[in-house]
Amino acid sequence: MDNRYFNPEFETMTRPQLQKLQLERLQNTVRHCMNSPFYKKRFEENGLTPDSIKSLDDLKKIPFTTKQDLRDTYPFGMASVPLDKCVRLHSSSGTTGKPTVILHTQRDLDQWANAVARCLWMVGLRPDDVFQNSSGYGMFTGGLGFQYGAEKLGMLTVPAAAGNTLRQLKFIKDFGTTALHAIPSYAARLFEVMQEQGVDPRRDTKLKTLVIGAEPHSEETRRRIEDMLGVKAYNSFGMSEMCGPGVAFECPEQNGLHIWEDYYIVEIVDPETLEPVPDGEVGEMVLTTINREAMPLLRYRTRDLTRILPGECPCGRHHMRLDRMQGRSDDMIILKGVNIFPIQIEQVLMSFQELSSDYLITLETLSDNDAMTVEVELKQIATDDYSLLSNLTKAITSRLRDEILVTPRVVLLPKGSLPQSEGKAVRVNDLRKKF
Ligand code: ADP
Ligand code: ZN
Repeated sequence: MDNRYFNPEFETMTRPQLQKLQLERLQNTVRHCMNSPFYKKRFEENGLTPDSIKSLDDLKKIPFTTKQDLRDTYPFGMASVPLDKCVRLHSSSGTTGKPTVILHTQRDLDQWANAVARCLWMVGLRPDDVFQNSSGYGMFTGGLGFQYGAEKLGMLTVPAAAGNTLRQLKFIKDFGTTALHAIPSYAARLFEVMQEQGVDPRRDTKLKTLVIGAEPHSEETRRRIEDMLGVKAYNSFGMSEMCGPGVAFECPEQNGLHIWEDYYIVEIVDPETLEPVPDGEVGEMVLTTINREAMPLLRYRTRDLTRILPGECPCGRHHMRLDRMQGRSDDMIILKGVNIFPIQIEQVLMSFQELSSDYLITLETLSDNDAMTVEVELKQIATDDYSLLSNLTKAITSRLRDEILVTPRVVLLPKGSLPQSEGKAVRVNDLRKKF
């Protein structure tokens, strides 16, 4: 067995083999979905039956499933198995509106753990590693998702959970943690606390691998995390509707995230027209689960914007690679008619060595004009060299104008000025008047 792969048979399938498996699994899934009151009705309304799906291309006949559908059928209206077959649920509160629920059978949980283990193995983690998870546990899927995956791989797994950075650091030192899962904004916070405590990650810890995900981040942020902590950091993509972590993950090449096509069928569509985008172009990712029992989702609109990277990956996996997520279509800022993603601003900020990783974008209406303010913390606690600060502000403003085509007001702040969030970082504060 080639030691590089956790599931060699599935990970090294050729594209024709993958597609054959996908069609088989899609047909089974669609047949199984007729046990779900929601999908049964959907199919009937659209004059479809499971026999309508004869090829992968026929997937396009099926209507999209949206977050609204999950809300409308809350809590159990989409299940394809009786509740007594389910052993767990996860629920996302979402930022707005009604929560959504995802149900799991024992088989679903086993398959999910397998996908996460496959990801962690792919980046070189082995049973002699010590894996610490700084995700919130409970309903948040990053907790239990990584816990079961890391245990399945056979690592000693530390369910440290979110927050309490001093305790987190103590665990890292005492337990000899070699691999840590953290959201990118938290990885930066952890390093700050290490500095305050006089801990040198290279000298005083055994950390070598970071798994970062759950929120959009730029390549610059990844490099920073790697330099700060002396580790390799791998991008991990997941979402509760698709189980949680384990959907797509970078391989050692760090060039795109392999999405497991024996679990998911990927489409990239134009979010406005819902038509497929030309190969390699950015659009909204639509996913169909083909390896799930309790609650399969057909053509689920993720709202996440990405593109499929062309070409073969040298790692030997033929599962397609997604580009780093740009964010969700709902994260896009429209300012003065220009479309801007927060990640574009982050990219510029992180290229300035003087700046820390904490920033906040505020949108306001000032005398009937929309305006953007970008507040960003300096790395050093304080500096009173005003000409240096003013030159730096000018340089940042000009680089931002080049990137986003509008001129924001840039405010440099001493370290520690911006509010810290426990979970995913809040990057945009929209105070604009709604007309
Ligand atoms: P969880 O993070 O537990 O999956 P959610 O389901 O609430 O919780 O969040 C999923 C969303 O988080 C995705 O749809 C995507 O917008 C964002 N996300 C997750 N991983 C990444 C990543 N690696 N890069 C960018 N965004 C990500
Ligand atoms: Zn690869």
